[in-house]
Amino acid sequence: MLITMKTSEEYLQKIYGMKHNVIINGENVGRDDPRLQGTAKTLALTLDKVNDPEFKDLLNVESPEFGTINRFTHIHQSVDDLLKKQELTRKICRISGGCIFRCMGIDSMNALSIITHRAEAMTGQPYNQRFKKYLKYWQENDIIGSCAQTDVKGDRSLRPHQQADPDLYVHVVEHRDDGIVVRGAKNHITAAAVAEEIIVLPTRMLTPEEDEYAVAFAIPGDWDGVKLVTRASSHKRDFYECPYGDVGDVENFIIFDDAFIPNDRVFLSGGKGEHAFGGWAALLFALYHRHSYTGCKPATSEIILGFSALVSEYSGIEDKKHVQSKLADLISVSELVYAAGIAAAYKGTKDESGTMLPDTVFCNVGRKHAGKNYYHELEILADLAGGLPATLPHEADYYDETIGPLLQKYLKRKEDVPSEDIYKLYRALSDMLCSSIGGVSAVAGVHGGGSPAMEDVAILKQYDIDLRKKIAKYLAGIQE
Ligand SMILES: Cc1cc2nc3c(=O)[nH]c(=O)nc-3n(C[C@H](O)[C@H](O)[C@H](O)COP(=O)(O)OP(=O)(O)OC[C@H]3O[C@@H](n4cnc5c(N)ncnc54)[C@H](O)[C@@H]3O)c2cc1C
Repeated sequence: MLITMKTSEEYLQKIYGMKHNVIINGENVGRDDPRLQGTAKTLALTLDKVNDPEFKDLLNVESPEFGTINRFTHIHQSVDDLLKKQELTRKICRISGGCIFRCMGIDSMNALSIITHRAEAMTGQPYNQRFKKYLKYWQENDIIGSCAQTDVKGDRSLRPHQQADPDLYVHVVEHRDDGIVVRGAKNHITAAAVAEEIIVLPTRMLTPEEDEYAVAFAIPGDWDGVKLVTRASSHKRDFYECPYGDVGDVENFIIFDDAFIPNDRVFLSGGKGEHAFGGWAALLFALYHRHSYTGCKPATSEIILGFSALVSEYSGIEDKKHVQSKLADLISVSELVYAAGIAAAYKGTKDESGTMLPDTVFCNVGRKHAGKNYYHELEILADLAGGLPATLPHEADYYDETIGPLLQKYLKRKEDVPSEDIYKLYRALSDMLCSSIGGVSAVAGVHGGGSPAMEDVAILKQYDIDLRKKIAKYLAGIQE
């Protein structure tokens, strides 16, 4: 049974009809604002590709309850599901030229499938029943969602309940019979301005004083009392079409200004001694998200590798020893991160809820390796490209009737490569190394899915270091 295959046109029409709660540079804008289209069109790809023979088997999946659905709305049931999500993410990122913006939705929904199951079993509140109803809506309508986890957090040395202003972490300010009222702000929320739904989760482990911060819910992006302050960037070309020129990025600062959330959209309602579930929800989202990174980051590394190899070819240095060694470095990063994701899937475990969990250590070492290497990968590209990405003449000059031919002559490198191809490549390198989006991707490479220290915490918590100490003692001849 094929229950839903939403078209990209349906998605775009839906978001274009949403209320104007997106603010860019002091102006309330509709979701049809040109600055939002790069990200919206990348998201649309994940709908359009369902019938593409190359993606069909990866994108379509049988849900146990609802028939054939888009994998980006699926709750993972098996090792194969985790592997396919990873492969799918890598493959679409190759086409989109970077982030595909859909992992936040699927990762938060998988985390909620587990946490609501546990919370309902332990508290008797109908959190899982509500989640399942919401999941049905999500899957039937092929919902595009973002995940708002990261609170603004105030003074980092203080816990949520110790902050001078209690609103620096999102929390419940009123419990009503029909729902809750929430206040606070989340920042860095990717794609929220072009998402149909925003899933809100706690950001960290919580103490008993912080019950009101253990809140999880879902809202449409234009919900009353919700304001999105949006930073939008793009690579748009003026003189020629190219896929990398369509890349866009949309990051959002989301303010919950005493927003009312009705019960059927509340998955943890704060209060009632539920703080522990808040922390687990935070960890679970991070775990799924780090597994998604083992799909998208190898693709980004491949793009850097492709740019590095091509610019070396165009410059006539591809066969030089130091270039070959740098290309091998890039391949090693890409494939080791991917391998960690595969291992995480194979070593995964089935949660009591039925949802498949990837292995924590493999997810985190993979994500850590990716994050640690991102600036190193960019350094290789900058090294091999020379300084031109930073100093490239503007497109209007390159294509100008008077000065253009001279630029075309002097930008030439290898004889058999047309000057225009060299210009186009350097434009793309400039996007990656010197643009606003390039900078956003680099910082995301370090912090997306949690700052590096949080990966270390997750690794050290799970890894059996005592076992390794025992091995050391045995080898050194030290008696227990
Ligand atoms: C481009 C981009 C996209 C993102 N997309 C999303 C998204 O879609 N959804 C979402 O929820 N989040 C998203 N994030 C947020 C990301 O998860 C956070 O940036 C990350 O968790 C770090 O949080 P922070 O930015 O507040 O930095 P901080 O937490 O302030 O980290 C800065 C430094 O302070 C250290 N630090 C912080 N607190 C402590 C402490 N108590 N003790 C010791 N050291 C501390 C950190 O280890 C780090 O070294 C995104 C981030 C980026 C950059």
